[in-house]
This record gives sequence, structure tokens and C-alpha cells, in this order.
Amino acid sequence: MHELGIAMRIAEIATRVARQEGVKKVDAVLVEVGELSGIVPEALLFSFESAIKNSFLENSRLEINLISASAKCSRCQTVFRPEGFFSLCPVCEGVDCEILSGKELFIKSLVSENGK
Ligand SMILES: [Zn+2]
Repeated sequence: MHELGIAMRIAEIATRVARQEGVKKVDAVLVEVGELSGIVPEALLFSFESAIKNSFLENSRLEINLISASAKCSRCQTVFRPEGFFSLCPVCEGVDCEILSGKELFIKSLVSENGK
């Protein structure tokens, strides 16, 4: 499953960051996931559970902040919500649209009880 590899990568990076900062226990890992990233949040949550089993991150949870997609038409400058990477502008039907958001997939921060 696609999400398992990503969950393992998130766990790996979060573990490294936590150790660098001397955090003993991570309560939550906050990630930003764009609508167009192709990630299914439920699948990612499920995968994260198995990725952190018996690891430093065990018992920490994954919090997903879903970012909605937006695109801008380079012909008429309309900003709209695309249905996918290849969308027509709803106003002028132009094909040359730039994706502004929705492709995100990154770790935003780590949350731990001792405030770090
Ligand atoms: Zn347009």
C-alpha cells in the first residue's frame, strides 16, 4: 500500500527530529496533506499505527490537516477549486492552470507534553 511507505517515512523523520531536539515522548505528529496529494487520510492513519508499533513513536498519534485544492487560470486569473491536476478553468475553459495548493505532504510539527 502506497500510504504505508509514506507513514514509515513520516515516522522515520519524526523520530529523527524528536531525538535531535531531545524530546522523550511524542504525543502527536501533525502533517499537512493536500487534497491532490493522492493520500487517503484514513489509510495513512491506519498505516501510521502499524508503522510506529514497537518503536520510539509508539502511542503517539497522527493528526492530519487536510488542505483543499486551489488553482489559478493563467488566462483569466480566476482562482477555482480543481477536481484534479488537469482541470479546465470554469470561467474561460482555459487549460493552462497553475495548482496553488493541494499537493502538500509534509510534517508540520511534533507535539509533546513537555512543551517541545
Ligand atoms: Zn480562465
